[in-house]
Amino acid sequence: MSDLSRPMVPTRIAHYINGHIVDGGGQRLQDVFNPATGAVTGQVALASVEQVGAAVAAASAAAPAWADTAPLKRARILSKFKELIEKHHNDLAAAITREHGKVLSDAKGEVTRGLEIVEFACGIPQLLKTQFTDNIGGGIDNWQLRQPLGVTAGITPFNFPVMVPLWMAPMAIATGNTFVLKPSERDPSASLILADLFHQAGLPKGVFNVVQGDKVAVDALLHHPDVKAISFVGSTPIAEYIYTEGARRKGAYPLRVQALGGAKNHLVVMPDANLDQAVDALIGAAYGSAGERCMAISVAVAVGNVADKLIDALIPRVKALKIKNGMEDDAEMGPVVTVAHKAKIEGYIEEGVRAGAKLLVDGRGLQVSGHEQGFFLGGSLFDHVTPDMKIHREEIFGPVLCIVRVPDLGAAVELINAHEYGNGVALFTSDGNTAREFSRRIEVGMVGVNVPIPVPMAWHSFGGWKRSLFGDTHIYGEEGIRFYTRYKSIMQRWPESIDKGAEFTMPVAK
Ligand code: NAD
Repeated sequence: MSDLSRPMVPTRIAHYINGHIVDGGGQRLQDVFNPATGAVTGQVALASVEQVGAAVAAASAAAPAWADTAPLKRARILSKFKELIEKHHNDLAAAITREHGKVLSDAKGEVTRGLEIVEFACGIPQLLKTQFTDNIGGGIDNWQLRQPLGVTAGITPFNFPVMVPLWMAPMAIATGNTFVLKPSERDPSASLILADLFHQAGLPKGVFNVVQGDKVAVDALLHHPDVKAISFVGSTPIAEYIYTEGARRKGAYPLRVQALGGAKNHLVVMPDANLDQAVDALIGAAYGSAGERCMAISVAVAVGNVADKLIDALIPRVKALKIKNGMEDDAEMGPVVTVAHKAKIEGYIEEGVRAGAKLLVDGRGLQVSGHEQGFFLGGSLFDHVTPDMKIHREEIFGPVLCIVRVPDLGAAVELINAHEYGNGVALFTSDGNTAREFSRRIEVGMVGVNVPIPVPMAWHSFGGWKRSLFGDTHIYGEEGIRFYTRYKSIMQRWPESIDKGAEFTMPVAK
C-alpha cells in the first residue's frame, strides 16, 4: 500500500482489486499530467475487460458476507474511515491539486464535502430502520426490509476526484453492497488513497475496488451481469449513454442507474439585490476551480437596469484574479485540467466573439511566470450574450462568464426553464416574495436564494432536473439509501391466529 506520509507522485497508477494493488503489466497506459506545470507525473493503467471482470468477481465474492454484516459494524468501519480521512485530509487535497489543478484550499473544501457523506453514512443503523405495522388484522404484522443490491459500481468525473466517489461509495457500502469505482483517468491517484484508507479502516477485502480506465472499463461494468447498480457522474452525453444502455440490459434484475450529467447554471441578479454580494458570488462561483464545477455559475442574468452596474464591478475583479499554481497560498484560480480542455474553452471564446457577444475580458494567452507549460487561462467575461448563442446553450466548463440581459423576473425564469440543463440556479434579491415565486416556478433541481452554489448537505440529496440527471433518484442522502437498497415487504402470522378453511376472496384486513 502507499506510504501516505510522503507526497504521492506515482509513476504507475494501477487498480485496487480484492485488497491489493493490481498492475497487470503490458496493458494500455495513459499519461497523467500536473496541469500547473504541464509535466507528465504518472501513467494510469487502462483496465481491460478481464481486469474489470476480476474486480467484479472480487466484489461478488465479498457481497454475501458484507450484506450479512450488522449495520452497526459497517458503521464502525466507516467511522474509522472518517477518522483516517481527517488525518490524511492534506494528502488527499494535495493529490487533487497535483492532478486536477484546483487551488489547495478548494481541494481541502472538496475533501470536507466528501467527508460529510461519510459522516452521514455512519448513521446507517438509524437510516435503515423501516416501518412496522403491528396487527393489521387476523394476527398478521407487516413490515419492510431495505436489502442491499449486491455489486454496485461508480463512474466518476475528473472535476471532483475525491468528493464524487465519496457521494457514492460510503452510501453503497453502508447499505451492505460491495462497490467498484471507475475514477476519471485524468486524475486517478486520489482513488488509491481512498482505497488505502478503507483498507486501514478494516474494510474486508473485495468490498471496495478500483478499476482505472476509459470507455472499455465503463462498458465492461455496464454489461457485466453481476453489476446491479451504477451511479454515474459526468457529462450529459455519457450520462445519457449509460442510462439508455443500462435500460437495455436484459436479465432477472434490470440494471439500476442514476446518471448525473452536465450543467449550465444561471445566477439571476434582481435590481433590488445587494450588488456587492452578487458580484462576490459571481466571481467565486464562475471562476472558482477555473469554472470546472457542475455547480459553477456560467451565466449571470441581469434583470432590468442592473447590467451596466454589474459589468463595471465585474471587469476589474475578473482582471485581478490571482491565477497561479494551486499549491501557492494566495492562488485564487489554478489551471484547467488538460491542454485539450484548454483548447476547447478557447474555441468557445472564439465562437462567442464570432456570434456577436461582446468580449469584455479575454482570458486567452495568459502566461504564468515559471509555469509556461501549464494549462492556464485567464478569466473571460462576455456581455450581450443571447439565449440562442452556443456559449449560452452549451456547457463550457471553464472560467468564462456570460451576461444575458433580460427585462424582468418572468423573462429570467423563461430563459432558464427553456434551457436543456437544470442542475443549479441562484437568485440574488432582497425581496422574499420574489424569492418564493422564483423557487417555486424554476425548473431546476437545486436552487440558491442569495447562495451562489447551493450544493445540498449530506442529509439532503443532490441532483438536477432535465438533461442534468437521468434516472429517478438523486444522489446521497435519503435518496442514496433508496438507490442502493431494494424494498421488501414482509407479512407474518403464526399458526394460532390462522382461521380454518381456504379463503377465495381478496385478503382484506379483518
Ligand atoms: P466525462 O463524461 O468525460 O467523464 C466522466 C466519466 O465517464 C469518466 O470516468 C470517464 O472515464 C468516462 N467516460 C468518458 N468518455 C466515455 C465514453 N465515451 N464512454 C464511456 N465512459 C466514458 O466527464 P468529465 O469531463 O470527467 O467531467 C466533467 C463533466 O461532468 C461536466 O459535464 C460536468 O458538468 C459533469 N459533472 C456533473 C456533476 C453532477 O453532479 N451533475 C458533478 C460533477 C461533474
